[in-house]
Amino acid sequence: MTMELTNQLLPCPFCGEVPRLIHWMNWKGVPTGNVNVMCENGDCPVEVRTREYKSEQAAIERWNTRINQDAPSEYPEHAQDGQKER
Ligand SMILES: [Zn+2]
Repeated sequence: MTMELTNQLLPCPFCGEVPRLIHWMNWKGVPTGNVNVMCENGDCPVEVRTREYKSEQAAIERWNTRINQDAPSEYPEHAQDGQKER
């Protein structure tokens, strides 16, 4: 099950490695219910990890969010605004 979810994860933006889903446990080894995603590549220049979330899906969605994902669709709008001013 976890393997299938890992397939939904985008590669690390800094090194290209597939990140890992981490299920947190308390000191007794009991799952806390918190999940995060992190890049475990020792050669990665940045220690990339999400915050902890209450579900795998939430952690995966946050990991897969890239701030510049919808940038291309925004550029044409700005260009049009500029033309209207003229
Ligand atoms: Zn990485």
